[in-house]
Amino acid sequence: MQIDITEQMLELIRLTSTNLPPDVEEKILEARERETEGSAAKGAFDTILKNVALSRKQSTPICQDTGTPIFYVYYPEGWSTIKLRAQIRNAMVEATKKNYMRPNAVDAVYDKNSGNNLGGDDFPSIHFEEVEGSTLTIELMLKGGGCENVGAQYSLPDSRLGAGRDLAGVRKVVLDAVQKAQGQGCAPGILGVAIGGDRGTSYAKSKEVLYDKLGTRNADEKLAALEERLTDEANTLGIGPMGFGGKTTVIDTKIVGLHRLPASFYVSVSYMCWAYRRRKLVIDGNSITYS
Ligand code: SF4
Repeated sequence: MQIDITEQMLELIRLTSTNLPPDVEEKILEARERETEGSAAKGAFDTILKNVALSRKQSTPICQDTGTPIFYVYYPEGWSTIKLRAQIRNAMVEATKKNYMRPNAVDAVYDKNSGNNLGGDDFPSIHFEEVEGSTLTIELMLKGGGCENVGAQYSLPDSRLGAGRDLAGVRKVVLDAVQKAQGQGCAPGILGVAIGGDRGTSYAKSKEVLYDKLGTRNADEKLAALEERLTDEANTLGIGPMGFGGKTTVIDTKIVGLHRLPASFYVSVSYMCWAYRRRKLVIDGNSITYS
């Protein structure tokens, strides 16, 4: 019989909201070391790191905007997605009561906050995929509003930017998105980029790729090279943490290539802020792990 995982979901939400993943903290520490002593950039990184340590210690949200909760559930045969959805939603209500989550679901038509982080069928956002084997894996990302606002989608060719339907064109539009974002997405950012798809799948995949660990590269050599090049070039723009100027504007870039229609060539950029909150729960028999 399927176990009730509401408690485990609550812990996943708490962990994600209050405890920045180690790979992200490590990259922020490295970025701090590159900045000049006494600079505004170093000061911004110091503030970020103090905040990260305090949130972890006190189990309070890393940022006042606890973001859009986006779940990916990879479930083995036999698990009911109806029950899993209900348990995730119950855990979200409880997490809001415990202040791990700020009430963040606002009805866009009536401008009314639901007060419990539930809104229709789509808030929180939950994606289900059946997998082989016996392991249930649930990944959660909390995507901040400020960084979501500076995400961008381009339809190539883009004559204004001189961007054609090739990787050179992709490079131009991604750097344009970073330049336009300035510090408003709470830099340093992490870029999720999807090349191809339709408007919807392209944006969805540009976020999905952000669940990967920092520093991992696309298996395709061309895309791996472009990931590294974009991060390096974004860091020559001088925008720096929170837009104060500095050597690190982007921590990492993740790209996914999709198929497209002959008539369309979309490039979607999802910008993730430094509060890069994503965690994973794995349940296999009696084994329960969080990472
Ligand atoms: S963009 Fe990120 S760091 Fe900035 S306010 Fe939103 S959640 Fe917080």
